[in-house]
Order: sequence, then structure tokens, then C-alpha cells
Amino acid sequence: MIIEVKRLLSKGKYTGEFEYDFTPDEDRTVVPLSTIDSVHVRGSYEIFDDDSVSVKLTLSYVLKGQCSYCLADAVQPVEYSTEVLFVTDKGDSDNYVYDGARLDLKPAVDDALLFSQPSVLLCKEGCEGIKIN
Ligand SMILES: [Zn+2]
Repeated sequence: MIIEVKRLLSKGKYTGEFEYDFTPDEDRTVVPLSTIDSVHVRGSYEIFDDDSVSVKLTLSYVLKGQCSYCLADAVQPVEYSTEVLFVTDKGDSDNYVYDGARLDLKPAVDDALLFSQPSVLLCKEGCEGIKIN
């Protein structure tokens, strides 16, 4: 998803919304053997006078795989929201950097996808794992 900042500014448009779906690469999942078929992204942006762009993102998807404790099939819906800032100053290491013209959301969305995932996937809350009698 690209935000055409320069074009938007030339039209006097400083805010907007977006919504799209994408399929993440398989190596983007944190829990071993889990999969994410499709991620729904929705959000909004605001362009400021200094060309920095504030972006609000909400990711929602279903994490599927095996329970980390008992290996039963497990499915967990995830929703995660974050707010990030894109700036044109290459020396700014706290924020995402873009060239002032075209802003590619991908690095922020990839990071949000990583941060949003649980470290374990459970078949049910409080799963106690495989019982050995
Ligand atoms: Zn389990």
C-alpha cells in the first residue's frame, strides 16, 4: 500500500483512510508451524506541514496452527492497533523514513504483524498440555 503524499498535498488533501488485505510471507509467523492466510489492514493517515505523516493501523487476522502445549488444532483471532510516524529525515532512527513523495506502508505493516503475534498459540485458554497418566 502506497500513500502518494506529494500528489495528495498538491490536491490539498491532508487526511485519508485506507483498507486492504494481503497474504504475509510464510516466514512472518512467530509461533512454529502456525499460518496466517490473510491479513486485513485498515487505517488512516494525516500529513503534517513538515511532510511527516502519522499513520494509524489496525491489523486483524486469524492465526492457525497447533497448540503450543498439546499440539491440538488451534485457531486464534488477533486484532492489533498501532500508530506510527513516517518522516523525511534519514537521521531519525525512532520513526520510519520515506522520501517525501511516495510512502510505502509495508515496513510499518510488517513490524505491526510481528508485534501483534502471541508468543504461544493455545487451543483453549488455560490448556495444560498433554497429560501423562
Ligand atoms: Zn492445547
